[in-house]
Amino acid sequence: MSDRYEKWQEKAEKHDLNHTTVKRNGQKDFSCTICHQLSEIMRKEFKRFWKWYKEEIPEVKSYSGKTEENFEELMKEDFSVKERTGTEKAKIRYRLIWLIESMRYDKSPEKMTKEIIETVLGMIAASNKFTKREKQQETFTENILPAEQKDTVRITEVVQKKWRKR
Ligand SMILES: [Zn+2]
Repeated sequence: MSDRYEKWQEKAEKHDLNHTTVKRNGQKDFSCTICHQLSEIMRKEFKRFWKWYKEEIPEVKSYSGKTEENFEELMKEDFSVKERTGTEKAKIRYRLIWLIESMRYDKSPEKMTKEIIETVLGMIAASNKFTKREKQQETFTENILPAEQKDTVRITEVVQKKWRKR
């Protein structure tokens, strides 16, 4: 069970009171689709990401304009860098957390936040930042996956197997 879900839920509920009642409590929430409206045209990469994420994390319910923004920012990162400094790693980790937190979930995801992060990282590598179509992803990681991401290979393989089954 996700370790952070209750916090997200609490924040979202408190925030929503700003929309459903006349009271204002100042709670911000990046997963709110009223405050963070979806862009009119969904980018191909994001569309692939969302389709895949819903299958990986079936508890997810919705994303917001902020999710799209966070996704864009995350995709600007260079994932092929072999040696990353602690600061750079932390930055990517934060971007991933922001991405995950800017979505709403029906119930707590089965996966821990850390596992979700690793799954997303694995898929970023396998799909070359979601630029590959599903079928192209199969042999991708074997060739170009950076050594630094060895720990995500296992997850990537699981992801690949899932794609193959279809
Ligand atoms: Zn709102």
